[in-house]
Amino acid sequence: MKADPATQLRLLDMQAIDSSLDRLAARRRNLPELAEIDKLSSQLAAITDDLVRVSTELRDLGRSQKKLDDEVDMVRARAARDQKRLDSGQITSSRELENLQSEIASLARRQRTLEDGMLEFMEVAEGLEARAAAIRSDQERLEAELATAVGRRDAAMAEIDNETAARRAERDAIAPTLPADVVALYERLRATSAGVGAAKLVRRRCEGCHLELSGGDLRDVAAAPADEVVRCEECRRILVRTTESGL
Ligand SMILES: [Zn+2]
Repeated sequence: MKADPATQLRLLDMQAIDSSLDRLAARRRNLPELAEIDKLSSQLAAITDDLVRVSTELRDLGRSQKKLDDEVDMVRARAARDQKRLDSGQITSSRELENLQSEIASLARRQRTLEDGMLEFMEVAEGLEARAAAIRSDQERLEAELATAVGRRDAAMAEIDNETAARRAERDAIAPTLPADVVALYERLRATSAGVGAAKLVRRRCEGCHLELSGGDLRDVAAAPADEVVRCEECRRILVRTTESGL
């Protein structure tokens, strides 16, 4: 495979750009804001579940309170009716009077029991309301934190996207100036060699695998015509000779 030395150097430029693009893509994937957003979102989901549970408990409690309230009304109405009958003076039978008084007393006891129950319900309701309020305030705080994290993520992504677009433009300017067969080989190597298809030979060392070339290999590379595309014997990457190669 042939490519003049200037073309080989441009391949190194493209490699540098591609490595930048890879780093930008990795940065985009691993933005700390993404993990933060995930964490905040699941916290928010959990807290929303909590709120639904507390709201359901409050609704159930409200229904029980209403039932108790209705029962208190019934007991009061019945006691008032009994009292009215008692006060009317129309009941003359002492047996009937006694029954009525005993019923009024029993209704009063029932009313007190029911009212105690209502107080207990109110206390439970207050506790639940306080819990719901605390959850709502946590929810607001988390929502605000999430919005901030989303804003930071979007800003970071926009910056990465701008930088990526600039690198792509540079790449698009270089790519058409390279021979198709060299680019094809470079791409194939990049795909199988951790993103590095072309490496510089610096002071007898391949910058792709960082191994020093053996004496024999070095002599072969030095002897190869300048427009020959040589490969590292160790990692098989395209090895580009420069003035720093030590040949
Ligand atoms: Zn190598």
